[in-house]
Amino acid sequence: MEETETAARPSRLTPGKLNIAIVGGSLRAASILRLLSEVENLEVVAVCDPNWSSPGMRLAEELGVFATADLTEIFQVSGLDIIIDVTDDPRTASAILEQKPDSVELMASGGSELIWDLLVAKKRGEEQEKLFVELQVAYDRIRSHERRLQTSKEALEKANEELEGRLAEIFFTHEFFKALTNYTSVADVASLIVDGANGILGAEIACVYLLESEDWTLRLRGSQGRPEDAFESAVPVSKTVLGRAFSEGPVQEPQISGAEGSASWYKEPAELRSQAAVPLRSGVNIIGVMVVASAADRELTPAEFDRLQVIGNQSSLALQNALLHEELERLSVTDRLTELYNHGYLMQRLEEEIGRAARFGHDLALIMLDIDDFKDFNDRYLHQRGDKVLQAVSAIIRQNLRDIDVAARYGGEEFVVVLPETDIVGALAVAERIREGVSEYPFIGRENDPPVTKTISVGVACYPSHANTHTRLIEAADKAMYDAKRTGKNRVAAAGAP
Ligand code: GH3
Ligand code: MG
Ligand code: MG
Repeated sequence: MEETETAARPSRLTPGKLNIAIVGGSLRAASILRLLSEVENLEVVAVCDPNWSSPGMRLAEELGVFATADLTEIFQVSGLDIIIDVTDDPRTASAILEQKPDSVELMASGGSELIWDLLVAKKRGEEQEKLFVELQVAYDRIRSHERRLQTSKEALEKANEELEGRLAEIFFTHEFFKALTNYTSVADVASLIVDGANGILGAEIACVYLLESEDWTLRLRGSQGRPEDAFESAVPVSKTVLGRAFSEGPVQEPQISGAEGSASWYKEPAELRSQAAVPLRSGVNIIGVMVVASAADRELTPAEFDRLQVIGNQSSLALQNALLHEELERLSVTDRLTELYNHGYLMQRLEEEIGRAARFGHDLALIMLDIDDFKDFNDRYLHQRGDKVLQAVSAIIRQNLRDIDVAARYGGEEFVVVLPETDIVGALAVAERIREGVSEYPFIGRENDPPVTKTISVGVACYPSHANTHTRLIEAADKAMYDAKRTGKNRVAAAGAP
């Protein structure tokens, strides 16, 4: 046996303690050693096994317990009380019995078994208690974690919800602003705006009113949340919350006090509980008002109220563009003096309408009319008076038409009317009404003089009976009109067979 292997001699026998030696180095021996070393009033003073690398021997070295491969050395340990034999080997047991001092007790097989069980049971109890305490602590920790988690989960969910809401709003807003730049008609932009107010702010009701500077009223151009006829189509700029927004800027009424009629842009104002309105500005000009309302009390948060203004501001630009676009388009197809369509637009529409008539097998009529002896009138009453006559005749023409009819100034003092889905009989009737209307109209020649009468000569032609192209149709009507001139003026003539 080498020096190092016998280094730890049994030197620290503790009085008042039960001193134990373990014979055997198996895993069980190591376990008993571990368990016993934790028990008060017990001291393991030696471990013996021929195999130095067995678990029991290793643990003994680790714990500083005297370890030996020689059984006889065990018996030399003074103050030893008990030998526990865990080898389950009868030869070892008998060797111990032969050599051990009388004062030393031997616990072999059954005995060591019992110790093992007792120790395990004790340990288990301790462990359980320890475990229980640990569990309690862990449980408390888990609970507090859980509570914290729950709170954070709720906060997270809320944040997530808000974020999703915000994201949806951002996406919506992004889409909204993107769409705004793509829309060119006022009607489209206005309906997009009210849609935006609904999507971004959850507005129950939203309307866009635009200023009509001619009569200083706000006209409904887009609405959402109720049928269109639930809203007043025109509101004086001095009245209601619209008027307030128009003159004072953004305004909010979380609870409408019905008395001042501030909600009477809505036909059943009593139904509305809350409303807010923002002016739509274009530079220094206010072009209209956007209003949102609800049948419930609702106060927009400052952020929401801000957003309403952002919607208003961004929309205003798009609206202004659309208004300009529409105005340009209107101007490009309109005759300035008479505000009827111009020659170019007439030709385009006539072609389209003939195409449609051809497709659907409808008739289409064309009326051409020319003011009789207009040169004389101009000569006598000057050109400006002549212009007034042109305007009055235009008004009479318009008054006698349906929405689908197209009236144009063909040139000079000549006019053309296209009557879709109209046969020669219907067209002659319209022509006759216009002729009569003009002939009865009191035109002003000279200020303070009695009114002057003017007459027109009218030619009527029909597609497809008189012509099958738009140029031929115009020719046919023109020819008929000259027939009317030739046969005495102030009359209506139908085209003859082609
Ligand atoms: P007729 O009965 O044969 O049609 O005789 P008319 O004098 O009306 O015919 P004519 O074609 O000789 O004269 C047309 C006149 O219409 C000439 C022109 O002074 C006038 N005229 C054309 N355009 C305008 C306009 O924009 N304003 C005014 N005031 N007069 C116009
Ligand atoms: Mg004429
Ligand atoms: Mg003429």
